[in-house]
Amino acid sequence: MSKASTKRISAAPSWLGLTPDRSSFVFLPDRAEIVRKIFQLSTGGMGSYAIANYLDELKVPTFTGSLNWDHTTIDSMLRNRATYGEFQPKSFAAGHKRGIPSGPPISNYYPAVIDKVTFDAAQVARQQNLSHRGRKGNDLANIFGDLCSCAYCGSKVIFHRISNVQVLVCEQVFNHSACSRTAWTYRDFEITVLAFLAHPALVAQASDELKAALLDLIEEIKGLASDPERRFARRVNITVLVKRIVARLVVHSAGDLTRPRQSSAQIRKDIAGRFLEIQLQAGPSYPCISVA
Ligand SMILES: [Zn+2]
Repeated sequence: MSKASTKRISAAPSWLGLTPDRSSFVFLPDRAEIVRKIFQLSTGGMGSYAIANYLDELKVPTFTGSLNWDHTTIDSMLRNRATYGEFQPKSFAAGHKRGIPSGPPISNYYPAVIDKVTFDAAQVARQQNLSHRGRKGNDLANIFGDLCSCAYCGSKVIFHRISNVQVLVCEQVFNHSACSRTAWTYRDFEITVLAFLAHPALVAQASDELKAALLDLIEEIKGLASDPERRFARRVNITVLVKRIVARLVVHSAGDLTRPRQSSAQIRKDIAGRFLEIQLQAGPSYPCISVA
């Protein structure tokens, strides 16, 4: 084997191309856009299964020619430092098929499609997505993720099923502790929060950045009804937007009735007077009563 004097690259990451003489990489804007979207969905709380489903539903072409997006492809892309341009030289001696790192990483080796800050944020998000969602990660039943907390004890308010009805309830209710044993029907809660966020009065007083996110959210909510074929992708977008708009949802599932009920009592659903506080990202907090 003779050593060529000019650099010849054997392979490029799937989102980059190579010049015909294989001496340098070619930036492919369409693919770069898809990689950015994948990172955006990951930092927005989506697991790799949900991201794959999302891309499939929108018929986004894969980079390999295969028919569907695979969650392992998504996950390895999210972990791949080549996305922000870094190259780790590897040694393939001693039969190491995947190679072992050899020498320091080289930055700016590849054309970057995202920045390092986005990459780091995605690593944190990946861990959270893995621990907080089911293995398949595509259950968008609860679009609020970890945003809900209990007004009475400060614990998380979690998604739960009570005799086949999806509800939100304080997690202390299941920890042998006494908190208000009241639940808020999930469907009613979601309608209440989305109706509040989509209200023209909120849009009218929002800052420019918030306004843009609220208008996107309103589009997606309208689309849920008019474009049911893209329902999954719409709910993914809504989930990501809600996380961008809302910092915290403080749930008063029993309204002002704050006295804790003991652990033997039945969990009561949809108490009259229930309300929540919606705290916006870098913004004010608003009280919001159930619309049901
Ligand atoms: Zn509580």
